[in-house]
Amino acid sequence: MVSFEWQNSNKLLTGPLSVVIKIIIFHLTVNFAYAGAVVTANPFATKVGLNILKQGGNVIDAGVGIQYVLGLVEPQSSGLGGGSFALFYDNESKKLYAIDGREKAPKSIPYDFFQQFRGSRRGFFNLVTNPASVGVPGTPLLLENIHAKFGRLDWSELHEEPINLASNGFPISPRLHTLAKKDRFLRRNTNSKRYFYSALDKTLFAKEIGYILKNPPYANVLKQFKNQGISTSFYNGTIMSKILLDLNNVKGNSFLQTDDFKNYSIVYRKPLCGTYRYFRICSMGPPSSGATTILQTLGILENFDLAKFETTSPELIHLISEATYLAFLDRNSYLGDPDFVSVPITQMLDKQYLKKRSELISPLKKIQKANPGKFENFQQKSHSVDHSMSSTSHFVVTDNWGNALSMTSSVESAFGSRIMSQGFMLNNQLTDFAFRQKDDRGVRIQNSLEPEKRPLSSMSPTIIFDREGNIFALLGSPGGKNIISYVLQTIIRLIDFNFSPMEAVTEPRIVNTGRGLVLEKNKFPIEVINKLKKLGHHELRERRVFSGIHVIKLRKDKIKTYIETGVDPRREGMALIE
Ligand code: GLU
Repeated sequence: MVSFEWQNSNKLLTGPLSVVIKIIIFHLTVNFAYAGAVVTANPFATKVGLNILKQGGNVIDAGVGIQYVLGLVEPQSSGLGGGSFALFYDNESKKLYAIDGREKAPKSIPYDFFQQFRGSRRGFFNLVTNPASVGVPGTPLLLENIHAKFGRLDWSELHEEPINLASNGFPISPRLHTLAKKDRFLRRNTNSKRYFYSALDKTLFAKEIGYILKNPPYANVLKQFKNQGISTSFYNGTIMSKILLDLNNVKGNSFLQTDDFKNYSIVYRKPLCGTYRYFRICSMGPPSSGATTILQTLGILENFDLAKFETTSPELIHLISEATYLAFLDRNSYLGDPDFVSVPITQMLDKQYLKKRSELISPLKKIQKANPGKFENFQQKSHSVDHSMSSTSHFVVTDNWGNALSMTSSVESAFGSRIMSQGFMLNNQLTDFAFRQKDDRGVRIQNSLEPEKRPLSSMSPTIIFDREGNIFALLGSPGGKNIISYVLQTIIRLIDFNFSPMEAVTEPRIVNTGRGLVLEKNKFPIEVINKLKKLGHHELRERRVFSGIHVIKLRKDKIKTYIETGVDPRREGMALIE
């Protein structure tokens, strides 16, 4: 990074040669006026990311190393057996890419297979832990693909640290320990049992916090990635064969076959962007509901002057909750995999439409019941509900070239399907589909299960640009459908209230996923809760929430980039600036 001496020497230069020198210095300062920063959910991952940046890597190189480490130290959240969405800003071409590495359903899965698991919590978890919930993992191919297109460092250079960490071991974190301890299903899988638990007098105990957990199979997988590449080893090779074997050894129904892996592909989608008070907010469009629902909510809220309220006032909470409720009505009716269903995105994000929706909101009384919007030339769809659990990981990276990566990665619920193969967890992402095929009128549900379809997600890797087109902030979070509220609230705090990223991520959470207002437990005064109930939020619930919002906020002048980071205190993350 350029220091202030550069600035001073620039001012001192005089004489004919100075013009040339000034041009050179100006060029240097422009090139150096960026800076690297990494925020992830785990200190090991953050350090590996930063080391890669220091070795001359860019955000993509760092992203590969970070994801390898997250899959190792945070197996409950994301990994090689899961899927991801990434938003990548390439500063040289000024292009933004939205990369879809979402899991896909197997080709041979019957359309109505999930129907039998409907209606009860037990049924739901029977499917979660059934191999039928496992979609073709997308994260490994996404990493290989983005590195091949945009990486700077040699592929082999990205593997050493993660391989060493897997071979030599890492200390079990409090969060990993707690989740393994309380999980009822993880110990039923032979590989997971051996890895996460120790036995004493026939009783199983989750390995303790600080226990050095070694994962030689994971190191071995990374060695194969390094030497053979991911397409060869994972999607066409022995890693895939072993996954299929491990799935077949678990009770349930396994529909995945070799062709599902061979035919899997990463999709470069159009990033979904919209304006909010002079900022341009870009995030992931379908098959994620993230961008659409966040932009709809912001489009509704833009019709109100939010900044005049106290940040945790009942008036503001009410408005945010109502706007989110309206956006979720549309989300649950119209969104699905765009390769399978058509989605009226343009109409949904039309500012006039959103203004009309905002008129349904009264500052004095909660909406009793609203319907999803109606769109011209578009059949009205039925509301359907998808259940997603709270796992997942979000990380953000910037580098010295002005690039930015905002990536959310998931195995769906904590430890995914609980099925472990070769040191990593296999996802249960297919439970993000609606379990019904058709509604009572016989109309197909947008997010119904279909072979080779991608289930609807809420993951929202986001990049915000200021009015000059400079990056203002990168953010995202885990949290299932709550992700939308977490990211939304953080955007409002950063933009309307000029909060620092740390203040924004720490603030008590306000959540609505279309099923009533939820407030973070023990964080709101009773007067606020009573006032909200008076406004009609009788079903208001207080809950512990586990957001994991990670933010990098940038402000750049010609000389220097000023970086601020936000690490959600509810998880175990860490930020480092180069
Ligand atoms: N399966 C969820 C989704 O794609 C993510 C789960 C989570 O964030 O915990 O939206």
